[in-house]
Amino acid sequence: MAIRVTVWGENVHEQKNKVVAEVYPKTMHGTIAAALNTDPAFAATTVTLQDPEHGMTAEKIAETDVLIWWGHAAHGQVEDKIVERVCDAVWGGMGVIFLHSAHFAKPFKRLMGAPCNLTWREAGERERLWVTSRQHPIAQGLPDHFELENEEMYGEPFGVPEPLETVFISWFQGGEVFRSGLTYRRGAGNIFYFRPGHETYPTYHDANVQKVISNAVKWAYNPQARILNPNDAPNTPVEKALEPITERGPRLHHAGEKGFR
Ligand code: ZN
Repeated sequence: MAIRVTVWGENVHEQKNKVVAEVYPKTMHGTIAAALNTDPAFAATTVTLQDPEHGMTAEKIAETDVLIWWGHAAHGQVEDKIVERVCDAVWGGMGVIFLHSAHFAKPFKRLMGAPCNLTWREAGERERLWVTSRQHPIAQGLPDHFELENEEMYGEPFGVPEPLETVFISWFQGGEVFRSGLTYRRGAGNIFYFRPGHETYPTYHDANVQKVISNAVKWAYNPQARILNPNDAPNTPVEKALEPITERGPRLHHAGEKGFR
């Protein structure tokens, strides 16, 4: 069965900015989904910020194996209850890929538990990405380095927790460097952050970038059944202990109660 991918697009600059509309006549999320759908291994669909519940209904999330998230201008418009729903799904095993300016997306910040800040400059610089984890599944089929002629600069320090693995680092013409491909695991969910993708440049039309995203979807996909209540914190009473024990000492909780949250 094909991996069900949902590409979440903020869909603001494609509608408001002429340059972006010209670079991405099919929108950014539409371009990313179309590239994935050239491979029968994927069944990619799109949703946007403007859809009811930002397209992230419980039904849609249940039908999503891997979520791709691109946002920039309207992070604050994403409702917190939707952020919690997305994070619950990730903790339960849904894969997720955050692209470019989604470093400040609410679900990314919630999952990282860190400021996720960086330095930046919009000057159309050349970006050179280097593979730092040879034979990593996300780097499969890529050269040891590749270039994007025009990109926005993101520079270190990147305010994220130390990743599981750094798959790419980027060098920019102005001299900065950046950890541009990072993997994480949160709960049962695989997370990949990938840096390139400023909306005024044709980054998502680039074959190497498309290859990274396609590899990352396959890497993030978890074929096991989603954990439906990843926040459960059940109490195991004395009589159900695996080895017989006798209760002793003072007690704060009553038998059968849920505990504090
Ligand atoms: Zn940008």
